[in-house]
Amino acid sequence: MGTLELDGVSKVFPDGDGEVVAVDDVDIEMRDGEFLVVVGPSGCGKSTTLRMVAGLETVTNGEIRLAGSVINDVKPQHRDIAMVFQSYALYPHMTVQENMAFGLEESTDLSDDEIETRVTDAAGTMGIGELLDRKPSDLSGGQQQRVALGRAIVRDPEVFLMDEPLSNLDAKLRSEMRTELQRLQAELDVTTMYVTHDQTEAMTMGDRIAILNAGELQQVATPLECYHEPANRFVAGFIGEPSMNFFDVERDADTLLGDAFDYPLSEPTLGDVGDITDLTLGIRPEDISLADDPTGEHTFSTVVEVVEPMGDENTVYLRFEDAPEGETFIATVGGLQQISVGDEVHVEIPEETIHLFDGTTGDAVH
Ligand code: ATP
Repeated sequence: MGTLELDGVSKVFPDGDGEVVAVDDVDIEMRDGEFLVVVGPSGCGKSTTLRMVAGLETVTNGEIRLAGSVINDVKPQHRDIAMVFQSYALYPHMTVQENMAFGLEESTDLSDDEIETRVTDAAGTMGIGELLDRKPSDLSGGQQQRVALGRAIVRDPEVFLMDEPLSNLDAKLRSEMRTELQRLQAELDVTTMYVTHDQTEAMTMGDRIAILNAGELQQVATPLECYHEPANRFVAGFIGEPSMNFFDVERDADTLLGDAFDYPLSEPTLGDVGDITDLTLGIRPEDISLADDPTGEHTFSTVVEVVEPMGDENTVYLRFEDAPEGETFIATVGGLQQISVGDEVHVEIPEETIHLFDGTTGDAVH
């Protein structure tokens, strides 16, 4: 069973006279066959996490368990894991056939016939059967990517680790491979940890997403949970495109006081807020709509500062009427709506769509 557990895992690198905590006390439990996407900004510790699971970095603290057994001290070639790198890491002097067979020859005692059968099968699965006699330099980027995946499949491992495997492909190929990888992973049913900084890959590929920031795990949940119920302000701002709008507000009785607007609250929001007074109000651009009735409780007078037509929708930069020029927030509105720079428009921000975070800790409260 390919269950993979990270239990209090940390990685500390020496850094000049000091040290850098690249991964800080991370707990992740993956079920057998799960596809987990690890995302976060550059330098947040994604690759280091993956490399510790692969055995390419030592673990400073904590335990990594594969199928229940601790693998911290198991050599990389003896872990039942196959890794696919961003750079593909194919051996340039070997043919595709040799590249795919190499790992099996080194780390198993399969016969030559068995290896050949496995390579042929994996090449069939990846649609590269015609390319077995070629060298990597005679392949396109997309074909090299398929060989790198084929080389992982051929080993029939308990776990796949993938570090930004699609980032060297152009946009079209990338989207095709995204779909293909999902299909492949579902078909092979192999536990997969997939690192990316691409939000679309995270939202569309993973059964769950693990979001890291500065080495710390922020949330592990399904893409929709991360979107609808972000654990904190960081996750809320990281997931969703365009990003959530944030406003620092102070709660006075049942009203949020912003610099340029007042937002009345009712139950159950007030119950969630409790006695916290310093809050951050989060509003997703897609939850803001143009209001027919300007008198609504959660309707606000705004001025249009910028319109970016995107075809089916417009990204609009609005400013609350009382806010200084340039202090804008983003709304996405239907592409057919007539809206121009300088227009005064009323927008509705329904209470059931707002997010609230503790202004001090950033933790979600509603
Ligand atoms: P990116 O998306 O840019 O690849 P990442 O999220 O994969 O980033 P890591 O490569 O895991 O981040 O790096 C995490 C932190 O650890 C960074 O601050 C990085 O500088 C540091 N780091 C990584 N490897 C080493 C090393 N061998 N020695 C010292 N510091 C390192």
